[in-house]
Amino acid sequence: MKDIVLILFASSGFDKAAQGPSGAARRLADQAGVRVRAIVVGEADNFAAEVAQIADTVLVADQPELNDYQPEVCLNALTQLCRDLSPAAVLFSNDAYSQEIAPRLAHRLAGSAVGDGIEIRMQGDVVRVVRQVYGGKAQAVIELKRSPAVVWLRARAFEPAPARAAAGPITRPTLDIKADDRTRIVERNREGTGEVRLEDARIIVAGGRGVGSHEAFVTELQPLAELLRAQMAASRAACDAGWAPAMWQVGQTGKKVAPELYVAIGISGASQHLAGISEAKNIAAINTDPEAPIFKHCRFGIVGDYRRILPLVREKLAAVAK
Ligand code: FAD
Repeated sequence: MKDIVLILFASSGFDKAAQGPSGAARRLADQAGVRVRAIVVGEADNFAAEVAQIADTVLVADQPELNDYQPEVCLNALTQLCRDLSPAAVLFSNDAYSQEIAPRLAHRLAGSAVGDGIEIRMQGDVVRVVRQVYGGKAQAVIELKRSPAVVWLRARAFEPAPARAAAGPITRPTLDIKADDRTRIVERNREGTGEVRLEDARIIVAGGRGVGSHEAFVTELQPLAELLRAQMAASRAACDAGWAPAMWQVGQTGKKVAPELYVAIGISGASQHLAGISEAKNIAAINTDPEAPIFKHCRFGIVGDYRRILPLVREKLAAVAK
């Protein structure tokens, strides 16, 4: 039987988003009686050592050409490594790099690809992946007939793997890659350092079109987020309007989050938005429209203008915080 390859980017860190797919890889390998062969792109403090706790072997691709993520160079490196390993499945997390690389890698390996998996299992030699469709209203079971199956997984849908008694060996193969002279990085904007990634946030304050302006995000929602020690997020409508950065977008084409509390302010609750918050434990909504679909999905709801409600909520929270 062929092994399972797990691909992780050291720059993303071994947080929950990486630990979920690691757990999925471990269980899939155990089910098929094969090994987890991890490939780590880049190197960060202790990252490979952490991965070695759950993988049977770790290959670190940290040549200087891979220091700064460039899709073409990274793809060449991963293609070489995966061809050598000849796996049954190649698993990725759901970060932006993985989503970009996974289908292209599948094509290079003459395999098949599927994204946003929430379950994965082997059926004989074939990999089956469950993913949500129609904005989370239904689930599709997809059988990947061409091997290898290249899959990026919704990280929070999977339990992390327990550490193994003995760590797998770490090796650094020399790859035949060179920098891509057809593309050049003009500008690189990183998500604020020190902040918790949206996917890992415990509390999220999210704003939608009903918030009305960028200024209102700053003056009304931001103070609430600070009081709750929450991360900020937004609907696509708010991001498209330029009121919130694109990386805050939650939903079908945005981030999939799983907080303890998701506060939706001026968000109607379109199915594409709900697809990103299906794993939230509690949803609280403030909306002027009592018929807004978000109220069908929330645990706490307030019908009213958020500009009148938020000052009262902030006042109460500030009193509790004292
Ligand atoms: P609206 O639907 O316009 O809702 C605004 C809400 O604010 C209303 O319910 C209104 O009653 C309320 N409101 C107005 N004023 C106030 C006030 N003063 N106080 C309180 N409430 C107020 N959307 C996403 O969010 N994420 C995605 O990833 C995403 N992916 C998509 C993918 C595809 C292929 C498509 C077709 C669409 C996608 N969308 C996505 C868009 C989605 O369909 C909705 O258009 C979008 O989610 C609506 O955003 P909204 O709820 O902020 O705006």
